[in-house]
Amino acid sequence: MKTKILVSACLMGHKVRYNGSEKAAISETLKRWQQEKRLVTHCPELAAGLSIPRLPAEIVKGSGHEVMAGRARILESDGSDVTAHYQLAAWLALRAAQEGKCSAALLTDGSPTCGSEQIYDGSFSGIKRAGMGVAAALLREHGIQVFSDNQLTELIAWVEERDNDSV
Ligand code: SF4
Repeated sequence: MKTKILVSACLMGHKVRYNGSEKAAISETLKRWQQEKRLVTHCPELAAGLSIPRLPAEIVKGSGHEVMAGRARILESDGSDVTAHYQLAAWLALRAAQEGKCSAALLTDGSPTCGSEQIYDGSFSGIKRAGMGVAAALLREHGIQVFSDNQLTELIAWVEERDNDSV
């Protein structure tokens, strides 16, 4: 069976980011994978009912794992506590991955939801630190291989290896 991949909708050119923009990282490989029906394109924040545009949100004093365990919070830039919305977003990402039989995810780095290498530090001053967003953390906790958009080369190699193993 072909390896299937959950991919952040903003990486596929969908204008779903908080400011209504996309990340547009579509490469030839992603286009081919899309034609081969390997991709499940998903925006967890949109699925959880957050609007476009929306205020930027950051994890305060913790990471995605801690938010999902109830030990850290996610605030919008006006101080509103949106932790529950983002926890729901993470669970919906996991459901999309499981229903789509995805064994890997390619997620936009830096996001409090999709970030897998870095997230913002909670001060809303543009400073990043090492850490994971809520969806990336939950997917990884459930055995899904998570790659950031900076790791597309590694993901391609991982998929090719799995495809060769299943021949
Ligand atoms: Fe992109 Fe993920 Fe943010 Fe949606 S939640 S806009 S897919 S980074």
